[in-house]
Amino acid sequence: MERNRIAIVTGGSRGIGAATAKLAAQAGYRVCIAYRHRQKEADDVVSAIERDGGEAMAVGADVGREADVMRLFDAVDRRFGEVTALVNNAGILERQMRVEEMDAERLTRVFNANVVGSFLCAREAVRRMSTRHGGHGGAIVNVSSVAARLGSPNEYIDYAASKAAIDTLTVGLAKEVAAEGIRVNCVRPGSIYTEIHASGGEPGRVDRVKSRIPMQRGGEADEIARAIVWLLSDEASYMTGSLVDVAGGL
Ligand code: NAP
Repeated sequence: MERNRIAIVTGGSRGIGAATAKLAAQAGYRVCIAYRHRQKEADDVVSAIERDGGEAMAVGADVGREADVMRLFDAVDRRFGEVTALVNNAGILERQMRVEEMDAERLTRVFNANVVGSFLCAREAVRRMSTRHGGHGGAIVNVSSVAARLGSPNEYIDYAASKAAIDTLTVGLAKEVAAEGIRVNCVRPGSIYTEIHASGGEPGRVDRVKSRIPMQRGGEADEIARAIVWLLSDEASYMTGSLVDVAGGL
């Protein structure tokens, strides 16, 4: 008999995370989305899933705060049961600038949200999924970026470096838990139409750079969500430690 499928999608209130939460619900997962500030958007995603006949919940939790992450996973334990899938999607970037302008507060914010947050959520997932801890296995997908290999000069090298750390988390953790029933993979989006670019000070960034993308267009959140949900599924049963670029050839 197929187990109950239960997914946690961090940063599920908007953009790629919201698209992933909706698609996972359509694929039969009960979904918990975590968000940082935007409760209304998070509630709208839950309502959309419920209207579609799915089951979802939203938890306000800053993934960079250990107590919030513990509270997030506890809430899922209580309402849905043993988590089977984690999408480490929450991520931020800050205003475009060169490295010589970046201060320690900014670097700490970026690395805390993107790297510490993903580690903490992965830790809580492994504690529940690993056969070593009495769990029944599961799948983790981390959301990195092609910035990890491009470096994002003159824009946000801090963000790019934080995504390179996510790639390494993927490769290392995949090996660490491969024999314990957990697959860990990573999706690296290219330039996708979401609100993240406004945080960098350039809401129209995707249209500015699209002529440099071999497919000559930006991507849609759904195109990333499909890769994420596929990697979570049994269709990807022999994949672990993989970094999958979804970037129109970039
Ligand atoms: P987005 O539209 O800006 O949405 C970001 C989401 O993350 C929101 O749901 C936000 O919650 C949440 N979030 C941010 N910091 C958080 C924290 N500390 N704790 C919990 N939730 C937090 O971003 P997006 O473009 O969909 O990006 C999603 C992921 O894809 C990120 O990891 C990003 O780096 C990656 N990515 C995006 C692109 C792109 O072109 N869009 C390209 C490569 C990689 P609130 O709504 O409450 O603020």
